[in-house]
Amino acid sequence: MRILIAEDDAVLADGLTRSLRRAGYAADCVGNGEQADMALSSENYDVVILDLGLPKMDGLEVLRRLRMRKSAVPVMILTARDALDERVKGLDLGADDYMIKPFDPPELEARIRALLRRGQGTGLSELRIGELSFDSAERCARIGKQVLELSPRELGLLEVLMRRAGKVVGKEQLLEHLYAWDEEATSNAIEVLLHRLRRKLDHYGISIRTVRGLGYMLDVPEDA
Ligand code: CA
Repeated sequence: MRILIAEDDAVLADGLTRSLRRAGYAADCVGNGEQADMALSSENYDVVILDLGLPKMDGLEVLRRLRMRKSAVPVMILTARDALDERVKGLDLGADDYMIKPFDPPELEARIRALLRRGQGTGLSELRIGELSFDSAERCARIGKQVLELSPRELGLLEVLMRRAGKVVGKEQLLEHLYAWDEEATSNAIEVLLHRLRRKLDHYGISIRTVRGLGYMLDVPEDA
C-alpha cells in the first residue's frame, strides 16, 4: 500500500514517514502543495495525508484539483486546532477524514488503516482466502490459527496479492505499491522479495504463480 504525505513540518513529516514505513507501507513525502499536486497527478496512491497549511499551494487547492481529476483516493487532512473553517471546506471538497494537530500517531495510523480498507471497497480489516487470512489492522497473516513469520515488506506483498486474488498483478504495480521514491525499487528487489515469500508459503501449499510477461498471481488451494 502506498501513501503520500504532504506536510511542510519536517519533524512531523519525518516521524510519520518512519512510522508508516515501519508498519510496512510505502510512504512518499512532499513538503509543499505544488509537489503534492504533481505527485498526485503522476502516481497512484492508496491514501493521502494532506496538511492544509502548505507553502506554494494550500492543501485545499491540492484537494480540489485531485477531485477535479476524478480521483477517488482516500484523503486524510491535517489541520490546526483553530482552523475549523478549513476543515469544513476540506470535507466539502471530498476529504474522507481529518485530524487536528497535535495528534496521537497511533490514532492517525488506525484511521489510515480504516481509510485504506474503505478505499479497497471493504470495511473489513480481514482478508481471507481459504485458510489464509490477513489482518490489515494487526498487520499479520495466518494460516488457520498459525501466525506466519513475515517481514513488513513481505506482509505488504502478500496483502497486495490477496487484495487482487484471482487476478494477475504486474511487476510495475507491485513496485508502485511497495516502494517509495527514495527506496531501492528495482525489478530485482521484487524478485528477491517474491522468492522469500514463496519459500515461506510453499510449505502450506500456497504458491505465487508467475504469469509470463504479465505478472504474478496468488494461488491458494481450496483446502490449504
Ligand atoms: Ca503546515
